[in-house]
Amino acid sequence: MGTIVFLGPPGSGKGTQAKLLADRYGFVHLSTGDMLRRAIKDQTPVGVKAKGFVERGDLVPDGIIIELISSCLSSIARQSKVILDGFPRTVAQAEALDGSSTTEVSKAVNFTVPEDILIERLTGRRVCSKCGDSFHLVFIPPKSPGVCDRCHGNLVQRNDDSERVVRNRLEVFRSQNQGLLDYYSNHRKFVGVDANQSVDSIQSELLKILL
Ligand code: AMP
Repeated sequence: MGTIVFLGPPGSGKGTQAKLLADRYGFVHLSTGDMLRRAIKDQTPVGVKAKGFVERGDLVPDGIIIELISSCLSSIARQSKVILDGFPRTVAQAEALDGSSTTEVSKAVNFTVPEDILIERLTGRRVCSKCGDSFHLVFIPPKSPGVCDRCHGNLVQRNDDSERVVRNRLEVFRSQNQGLLDYYSNHRKFVGVDANQSVDSIQSELLKILL
């Protein structure tokens, strides 16, 4: 199956853009962060192992995450166009993806945003507790405060969007990012996107790249 990977720091809008592409153009959006949050909520064996790492903003060990994404990819129809959001985050994960027989990476899209803006975006982010849609107190306010535009669920702050955990997540991102960029810029169809723009402008750039 043709697979697109979205690279870039937390808060760069990968999830927002992937959701729009899934809703409007039929891409299958797979977010390892969403899978882990669901597993933690449901207290599955993976969720129990992952909980501490996610709460601290550390990476879940490669073995756990590779197994999670592999079993998910193997259940998806071969002709699907898949967007991986938040995977891979390490070179070992990228190598595992390339070693998979079910999927081939056709594009690696790198989202870039200055770090001070990321902190503002992440700490002001609110997500729907029902459908997972993402809003921002200032930049993407919901029509009614605290209520999801799409499904009317409650908007909440993710536990790992507190400033202390956000700073650790960005540190973890910095420690892995260069290796990943080297990996994809050398081997793959690599393309950069300036993600310090409006949701609509980024979406139109992506459409030019992906459709
Ligand atoms: P995200 O929703 O993508 O920001 O992910 C939330 C958290 O889930 C991260 O801070 C990590 O703890 C964990 N996580 C998500 N994807 C991965 C991955 N590919 N490798 C390791 N940990 C991950």
